[in-house]
Amino acid sequence: MTRTDTHCPYCALQCGMALSPTTPSQDDVGRRVPLEVTPLDFPTNRGRLCRKGWSSAQVLGVGDRLTTPLLRRGGKSGELAPATWGEAFDVIAEAVHRASAGGREPDRVGVFGGGGLTNEKAYMLGKFARLGLGTSQIDYNGRWCMSSAAAGAARCFGLDRGMPFPLADLDDAEAILLVGANPAETMPPMVTHLDTARESGGLMVVDPRRSATARLADEAGGVHLQNRPGTDAALAAGLLHIAVTRGWADRDYIRDRTSGFDDAWAVASQWLPERTEAVTGVGVPALRAAVERLATAARAGRGAYILTARGAEQSSRGTDTVATWIALALALGLPGRKRSGWGTITGQGNGQGGREHGQKCDQLPGYRKITDPAARAHVAAVWGVDPDAIPGPGRSAFELLDACGRDVAADGRPGVQMLFVHASNPVVSAPDAARVAERLDTLDTLVVADFVPSETAQLADVVLPVRQWAEEEGTVTNLEGRVLRRRRAAEPPAGTRDELEILRALAERLGRPAHWFPTDPAEVFDELARASAGGAADYSAISHARLDAGEALHWPCGADSPGGTPRLFLGSFATADGRAVFSLDVGAPDTFDTRVAERQVVLTTGRLLGHYQSGAQTRRVPELHRTDPEATATMHPDTATSFDLADGVMVRIRGRAGSIEARVLLDPTSRRDTVFVPFHFPGAGRANLATEASLDPHSRMPDFKVNNVTMEAI
Ligand code: SF4
Repeated sequence: MTRTDTHCPYCALQCGMALSPTTPSQDDVGRRVPLEVTPLDFPTNRGRLCRKGWSSAQVLGVGDRLTTPLLRRGGKSGELAPATWGEAFDVIAEAVHRASAGGREPDRVGVFGGGGLTNEKAYMLGKFARLGLGTSQIDYNGRWCMSSAAAGAARCFGLDRGMPFPLADLDDAEAILLVGANPAETMPPMVTHLDTARESGGLMVVDPRRSATARLADEAGGVHLQNRPGTDAALAAGLLHIAVTRGWADRDYIRDRTSGFDDAWAVASQWLPERTEAVTGVGVPALRAAVERLATAARAGRGAYILTARGAEQSSRGTDTVATWIALALALGLPGRKRSGWGTITGQGNGQGGREHGQKCDQLPGYRKITDPAARAHVAAVWGVDPDAIPGPGRSAFELLDACGRDVAADGRPGVQMLFVHASNPVVSAPDAARVAERLDTLDTLVVADFVPSETAQLADVVLPVRQWAEEEGTVTNLEGRVLRRRRAAEPPAGTRDELEILRALAERLGRPAHWFPTDPAEVFDELARASAGGAADYSAISHARLDAGEALHWPCGADSPGGTPRLFLGSFATADGRAVFSLDVGAPDTFDTRVAERQVVLTTGRLLGHYQSGAQTRRVPELHRTDPEATATMHPDTATSFDLADGVMVRIRGRAGSIEARVLLDPTSRRDTVFVPFHFPGAGRANLATEASLDPHSRMPDFKVNNVTMEAI
């Protein structure tokens, strides 16, 4: 192998990098030949990488890499032991037969996917679930990442594409408001795109934490709106009130390009600055400064953007919260114009593509609704089956996991007895994580496909060793809706298999036609492209060959837009009448009562620079593990004192769902009512042991950011 140009395996910035074979050092004796990582001058990262990207090749050769299938022998209390691929497939086929009562109850078998899968694998996993297993029960971990932003954007614009403009559009913007986003830590190369705003004092950050990004803004004369956790929608409504009453709203834009302003104003008009300050904890001067900078930059055509991320979105009111921030953007006339807009910063590497091709329980490829007869007919024609052969909607991610091992689930429908998990580690990443582990442990059969023995794989009855990013070919779609090639740079370890091969082998064992499940990624992409044709996320004019030729293609890219669409909504929005919709629902008044009882604080969770998602990959990279080896609980010194805690002691953080054990880290910039725990760590340090699975009625997103807890020293 020589130099291979590809992209980082981790976050949705999808930084460009080259991988080249390098001479093994003494440390590498006996291990696989390592790869050298060189950053590329790709538009999202411009020659930069974060430390996760620099060390990403180390994940290929981690010491406990799985290279043989494992079967649990001797029942649930038995050990996982090596097996042949043939044995593993036999066990799985028998288990599918048993769990589904010979195929009469296919919904007893479920599939849980991930936003790290390539587009080809995500597409084929959805097809395998629906045609291979005949089940409606498929969803994926992106439900806990992007679903509120997706539902909010779909409601207001008629279409969800994370950023409806290229990231480079931010470069010369003078005002950027980041809501619940911390790119300085989660995707550091993105910060270069914020330089103009930062240098002109126009970088603004909404975050209960004084995050690395909030510090950047504040130190450059920008604004940090350090709001009380869970008050993001109220904050947006208050800013909208200021925009209108100060004459900073764009009346012509509201008249010509939107609908529903009057109803939105009926709500926002109640959010006087003083009330907003009382509820959110953000002072009126900071509120006014934020709106003024956005409005001034927008009016002068000097670039104004509002970008939301998980801080505002990961809540049981996430969709309404996103819609309220979009309402502020609409009042200022930002979306659907050059040099301004609203967007969401996608998290997972293929968080965008992963939600477009059929992993979601309610969608078919091309972002089509599974309940839409025309969508079903189109996809059925591509698949060569009758539309009735495609099952209807299934359960969302948490509901699917909670149905595991139950004869009858909470929704009154039959529970799930067998589950396939691909590219996900829900034992760490799911809300109410102890309950989820318990449910998985009661399954008849849990099958986990992974390349390391993740915490979820350790519970499995069958573990399938798969290949990873630099060992595979395919595509991913980054946070701008741009489709990128992931390329193979290393020989995969003997004994591992590609998931496309696994799905085909399993389908054959289940008696399905092998040709339904091609294994060549370019061929799968072409089928995906046909299935997406005419849908919202139309990939039909994209191919591996065009991407390999270096074309920059953002979807939709189909018959009407063969060159792709870097900027959406410039002429009209994707709603029935072409207008963007104001939707403003801040919640009931008691939402903003002081919900934190005496001797309670708000637990909020998030990421660290050195780790990614559940940490299953990054915890195995020595230099990343050394920097952040364990779960920490960051809090204000006064908060620690009031709970009889001190720096460095172990604390038990107890919520309604359960308890976390973490090491106290004092930070005088923290809010006194808040404790922050990162969600990358296993065992008793799992942040999600204390997060509740109350779900957003629209997106089915749980509450990851606001959970009331008590604390005690251990
Ligand atoms: Fe990888 Fe994201 Fe870091 Fe870029 S910012 S190197 S894509 S983890």
